[in-house]
Amino acid sequence: MEIRKAKVQGFCFGVAITVKKAEEAIGSRSDVTTLGHVVHNPQMVESLEQRGLRNAGSVDEVESGALFVRAHGLPVEVFEKAAEKGLEVIDATCPMVTKIHVQAERLKDDGYKIIVVGDPKHPEVKGTLSHVPGAWCIETVEDIEKLPRSSKVGVVVQSTYSRERFTDIVKALSEKYYEVRAVNTICTDTNNRQTEALRLAGEVEVMVVVGGKTSANTKHLAELAETHGARSYHIEGPDELRAEWFDGIAVTGLMSGASTPGWLVDQVETRIKELTRQPV
Ligand code: SF4
Repeated sequence: MEIRKAKVQGFCFGVAITVKKAEEAIGSRSDVTTLGHVVHNPQMVESLEQRGLRNAGSVDEVESGALFVRAHGLPVEVFEKAAEKGLEVIDATCPMVTKIHVQAERLKDDGYKIIVVGDPKHPEVKGTLSHVPGAWCIETVEDIEKLPRSSKVGVVVQSTYSRERFTDIVKALSEKYYEVRAVNTICTDTNNRQTEALRLAGEVEVMVVVGGKTSANTKHLAELAETHGARSYHIEGPDELRAEWFDGIAVTGLMSGASTPGWLVDQVETRIKELTRQPV
């Protein structure tokens, strides 16, 4: 059986920067705390925690030391609280996420009612919403009918959102509102991976997508491949692979989410070869 790997693998540049900054921080001090996992990858999280990175549920639980801000960013009020508490902030917010904040603020300054497209429970979206108080957040086309009237709306989107779904949402918003100014803030890495998922889905029968179960971009890649013809499996690591997935299959695709380290993809590839009795 042939394994076709996506051209884009391993960490996106935003996660790579975050992990590097976290490693530097815990290499030089022992009082670094992050709110929530630094990356959506259990193996990487465990490795950082073993090397001393602490994890807290809220800034209220951090009494001293440094607050590490992961790639998703944090709401404005958390930065303010950290400053009040005298915490040192190590800010590893991805530049692509900061760009979304800036775009949303610009649209607001220009008088648009802001709509943030994405998962309202996702930390990145919570951060974006904090920059534009009063903004509306929608996740699906169906949410549009519940939105109030407005003369002009300005739209930004979660960095890892599905490109196809965003296009549908902008189209539907254009049917409801007189003026729609939409900025496609889906990041370049997500775009590239979605393009690869589409390309590979047309070439393979089965697609294995490696990434944390809570990773939005990994979920979207698996959905995209599935809806474009490849039977897809979203796994966190090699132990979840099953030999029967590959029975009678000639070509399998392999790709990863933005927070999956390259070495984990290599392990998955090795395990697929073992299960299908190919030389490793
Ligand atoms: S997925 Fe995109 S926005 Fe998110 S950390 Fe990676 S590069 Fe940045």
